[in-house]
Formats: sequence, structure tokens, C-alpha cells
Amino acid sequence: MQRVDALIRPRWTARVEPRVAIEERLAVAVDRGRIVAVVPVEEAERRFATGARHDRPRHVLLPGLVNAHVRAGASLFRGLASDRPRTDTRVARAEARWLGSELVADGARLAVAEMLLGGITCFADAYDYPDVTGEVAAESGIRAVLGMVVRETRSAWARDADEYVRKGLEVHDRFKGDPLIRTAFALCSPNDLGEATLARVRQLADELDVPVGTRLHETAAEVEASVSRFGLRPLARLRAQGLVTPALIGAHATQLEDAEIELLASAGASVAHCPRANLKQASGACRVEALRRAGVNVALGTDGADRCDRLDLWAEMRAAALLGKHVAGDATAVPAAAALEMATVAGARALNLEREIGSLAPGKAADLICVDLSRLALQPILDPLAQLVYAASGEDVTDVWIAGAHLVANRELVRLDAAAIAAAAEQWGRRLDPGAASGDD
Ligand SMILES: [Zn+2]
Repeated sequence: MQRVDALIRPRWTARVEPRVAIEERLAVAVDRGRIVAVVPVEEAERRFATGARHDRPRHVLLPGLVNAHVRAGASLFRGLASDRPRTDTRVARAEARWLGSELVADGARLAVAEMLLGGITCFADAYDYPDVTGEVAAESGIRAVLGMVVRETRSAWARDADEYVRKGLEVHDRFKGDPLIRTAFALCSPNDLGEATLARVRQLADELDVPVGTRLHETAAEVEASVSRFGLRPLARLRAQGLVTPALIGAHATQLEDAEIELLASAGASVAHCPRANLKQASGACRVEALRRAGVNVALGTDGADRCDRLDLWAEMRAAALLGKHVAGDATAVPAAAALEMATVAGARALNLEREIGSLAPGKAADLICVDLSRLALQPILDPLAQLVYAASGEDVTDVWIAGAHLVANRELVRLDAAAIAAAAEQWGRRLDPGAASGDD
């Protein structure tokens, strides 16, 4: 018998690859942080000996969810700008006053705790102070792709493109040895950047072999501004600089013409769809079914908590499926299997991590979650895959493992101190309360 670190025996398993489907009576063996086998329970009992056996008789076991677009450090701005127009400056003013390593550390810790409890095992960040977010990720054990933010306007983090790039590269070097942490360029918007900066990002992304995330056609106004300023739509500017490649992750993408969808498909680029943020800000709707039919890799993101209120990929999966059907005028569009694929392996692919995570396959990292389907509101279970996507929620996640480490057990954080995180958030709430600030609206 082969000795392994752990054996997990759920009622249902969703391997996600080679296809998204629910299977029964499988067990997953984990050793030294990796999946060793996904085999029938009887075979697992014959082959593997272990001290840690996790029986989950009412649960689905699936790969951890991948949040392909978030601003973790901004999570303390949750609730600050609800029901306000996109031009509202509350968050920008709060950032001008408070953005710094303290805000980002407490915000990122809050975000990571929320994401872990909801089954997100990997996130791609796009916020200032990625060094601080990286420290929080490292202490928590979550997998992260830190954003090397690039802008040409000053923030508390950097003053110009040169400094953003230099500090981003320092973050890249600093976390090089951490097996759970990678980096990617995070362009706030192509509109913020001149051609020289775009060319520099292209060259560095090629050298470092890292993804390039950017806001892409989030709103009609953003596209119009690009046309009037540069004579080109943002995607055309990225193409002119050679940035439309498999490394590109375009976030939001609510304004895409047919030819642009074709371009993304033929280039092998990805879209990070953030349906709830788009709906709440009335930004427009991403044509997910058209993208999928064209062969574009569509991942899912939450965006920051100031935009979407919850860093909850279950809510995003559901919104992606519902909005996708609505936009396509077709109830069969964006089915549950597609939504789950977007939240797992498509996210891994976008972040160039598909060899490591995104599905349950021997050799991949043991980034696994269990979802309890026994709640009354989920009964009866006639279609476990559809009910997982349409009826379950982050609160049904009972266990999270990342690289084999058990980080959420029985719905509780193992490594992070939930009470301390809540206390810090409460303190920030008093500082950020718009009603309490003098001279505020
Ligand atoms: Zn965004």
C-alpha cells in the first residue's frame, strides 16, 4: 500500500476536466501538496494508507475557485458607494486620504478571509501595494497572482510609470521563491497609458513570461474616450503594441464588437467576466455566450468589494449564467457546467496556471474544496451540478485545501484569526464612515 497524507471521500466529485460532470463514489488521494489519484473508493482503499481520512458524505468535492479579477486591498470600501453613479468620487477620496500599507494589509486580510471561506483558492489582484497583499497572501496560505500595477498618474504607491514598473518588478523578484505566489501586470486601463508605456509592458511581460491583466472595454464611455484621444478603441491600441496574446486578460469586456471577439479568439486571449460589478454599475453586459462560441477563454472575477459587495464566486457563477442567458436570449446559453468551468479551469488558464490548478487531475496541486449540499433549501438533489451552481452558496463551503494545507475546516478559518480581522474592519469602518466625516456629502 502506498502511504499518502490524506484521502478525501465525498458523495459527489466534479473533476472539471476533461469535462464538467458530477461523478459518484470517487476518492481523492493527496500527498505532499499534490493530487496523487482520483479513483473509485474501493480502489483507493486498496491502494492507499493514510492517517488523515476526510469522509464528506453530503458533499461535492471540486477544484478551488479562481477569482481572476479582484482588488483585495479595496475590500474595506465595501458599502461606500452603493447606488451611486460611476462618476462618484467617494472611493477615490477615501483612497486619497487612507491608501497605504495599513489599509491594504487590513483590506487584503479581510478579502482573503472572505475568499477562503467561500472556496476561492486563488486570486489575481490589481491594486496598489501588491507587496503588502503578497505578505498577507503568504501568511494566509492562499494562492495569489499579485498585480504589478501600471499607471501614469500618481497614487500613494508610485508617482509615474517608471516608478510603478520598478516597484512592480521588485515585487516580482521578492516573491519569486514562493511556490504559491506569482505576478502579472495589472494595467488600470489602456486609456491611462501612452504607447511607450504599453510597449514597455509588452517587452517586460514577454521577458518575465507573466500575464497582462487590464480593464478592457468596461463601459461605452471608456471606449469613446479612447477613440477621441487616440483615434482607436482600447483593444486596437493593445493590438498595435503586440499585447493581444495568450497572456492578455481583459477584465469586464462589456463592449465588444464581433471582430473584436474574433481577434481575442484567434489570439488565444482571455476575458475576466465580472457580471455583478457590471450589473451594479450599469456598465453593460459581456456577451459571454458569443465569446464562448468563438472559443475565447472566459474566466470569472468579482472586482473589488466596493463594486460588487461580496467577493463571492458562487454569486458570480450564478450571475454569469443568468445574465449570459438573458443577453443571448437563450435559456440554454451559459449552462451550469460552463459557469463552473469559468470559475475554475478557465481562471487557471487565464492566469497561466492550468498545469498547476483548475481541475482534479493527478499531479496538479491539491487546491480542493468541499460543498455541503444538505441544506434544506437545496433539497431534493435531482441535478447536483445545476444545484451546485444555481442554489448553493459560499456559506455551504465546509473545507478548503490549498497545496494540501487544510485552511478551512468545518466552515472555520484554520490559519487566519477571524475575530482579529473583524475587529480591524470595524475600526476602519469608523474611520471611513461617510456619515461621520466632516464636510462630506
Ligand atoms: Zn475592474
